[in-house]
Amino acid sequence: MTLVREANIIVKDHRKMDLKVVIAYPSTYRAAISTLSIHMLYYYLNSYENVVAERTVLDLGRISTSYISLESKIPIKKYDMILFSVHYELDYINIVDILYNSGIPLYSKSRGGKDPIIIIGGPTVTANPEPLAELADIIVIGEMEQPLETIVNEYLSSHSKRDFLDRLVGKEGFYIPSYGRHYVRKSWVKDSTLKSAITPIEQIQPLEEKYYPIYGRAYLIEISRGCGFGCRFCLLDYISRPPRYKDYKLILNSISEGIIRNNVDKVVLVSSSPLSHPKAKLILKYIVDELQLQLSIPSLRADTLDEEVLHLIHRGGQKTLTLAPEVAVDKLRMALNKKIPNTLFFNVVKCAWNTGFRKLKLYFLFNVPGETKNDLNAIPKVISKLAKIGYNYTGAIHVTLNPLIPKAQTPLQWMPLPSLEEIRYKSKYLKSILRSNIVKLDILNPKLSYIQMVLSLGDRNTLKLITKWFTYGKGLSGWSRALREEGTLVKNIIKRRLDEPLPWDHIDLGLGKEYLKIEWDLYSKCETTPPCTTGCSRCKLCGELG
Ligand code: SF4
Repeated sequence: MTLVREANIIVKDHRKMDLKVVIAYPSTYRAAISTLSIHMLYYYLNSYENVVAERTVLDLGRISTSYISLESKIPIKKYDMILFSVHYELDYINIVDILYNSGIPLYSKSRGGKDPIIIIGGPTVTANPEPLAELADIIVIGEMEQPLETIVNEYLSSHSKRDFLDRLVGKEGFYIPSYGRHYVRKSWVKDSTLKSAITPIEQIQPLEEKYYPIYGRAYLIEISRGCGFGCRFCLLDYISRPPRYKDYKLILNSISEGIIRNNVDKVVLVSSSPLSHPKAKLILKYIVDELQLQLSIPSLRADTLDEEVLHLIHRGGQKTLTLAPEVAVDKLRMALNKKIPNTLFFNVVKCAWNTGFRKLKLYFLFNVPGETKNDLNAIPKVISKLAKIGYNYTGAIHVTLNPLIPKAQTPLQWMPLPSLEEIRYKSKYLKSILRSNIVKLDILNPKLSYIQMVLSLGDRNTLKLITKWFTYGKGLSGWSRALREEGTLVKNIIKRRLDEPLPWDHIDLGLGKEYLKIEWDLYSKCETTPPCTTGCSRCKLCGELG
């Protein structure tokens, strides 16, 4: 039995396997199980007869001397490969934790042929792999489909670790840091209907309620990749272009089979902007009206919602509407290239109220370049207008406020970093002006936001900070001590000139630095750029679509 009681687990005889992999998620079990990519990795790798893939997670995988696999309870050191799927910069330290506490040498140069091969993938390392470069034998740049197939095939036919790495270097999607900072082109599914993307039908289902995924037990499906709206702060937009929409029939068939094989009555649409799918309404009607299932869509854009869609989502059992206005004034929102004016936002909220949504969840950013005190003061004014619409009772509006974390490979990679004091001051100020029983307010700890900024834009030296932080305990005081000792490493991250080489310049996501410079210039002029459309050739990626 696994460490957690689960359905749809794959058990294989390790003695008959040619490749044994651990999928490591450097965060909690619940976060892992709520992440579609874990299910994709698990079912894809286990589809090979001679490959076994098991899992470990931060909170449940550790016994006194090692992290172990959830399935076989074998120390992860004994596997051929450890594949880390990382989605959040603040989880980087947990990769160090998992390796260190499993007795695996941290640095790739210190590991020998008998140690597991360490592979790291995910959105943040796709944009900027450098902070983790010295830990990894391989960093996957881009989408997982083609690299996974290549990893399995080349591993099975190689005769040593060096031979294996030699075979990968130079191929699309593979960064092998031990070969230096070499050029890497991202790997992506070049099929406009995503038929060749991994769509796992069976998914791991925890059977104990305390381990249920964040959205409850459900079938997760990705109906599109990339959104193409071009919000200038959004990592997922910039790394996942061009937008692609999964084949309609494939979606319907996967859902009808998925709910049976997983024994669930809920579907979660996991995509950046699912309602941009050309057949979104038909998909929603199929789920809610035809199959009579519950529906959850965690990420919604106000300009993709109308009365009919809101009714469908509400009938699907979602009672809280989640929107991300990001900022409270149109001018800054246009600078961010999120072309949703306040008038449209308020109309959608009015419509949501009339439809029966009685709670709102709103995401706001602060520390946006060019922001003034008046822009911050506009946030409570937005709340007052929402209260007039009807959201005027205790806890009606859940506001999450985070400082903007600039991401590599987006136009905002050139924004100057604020000081910790600035973030603290603004957090405190926003807390004071948003004090109201209508609002439930969450603000990320200022120091954690600052750490996230440093890790997001860091270079190879950043690993020194991460390992010291780990050595001094993973808490905030441990970070302060590490920063006192290695503070000079952060100085060159604080402001980067446009003509300066960047640590991730060798990573080619297909957009080009000149394109990002134009977008950064348009940001300062508060001018917008049209979304991705058919026939566009601004960044050349679409030319590669099949
Ligand atoms: S070529 Fe145009 S439409 Fe295609 S990904 Fe680039 S910007 Fe978007």
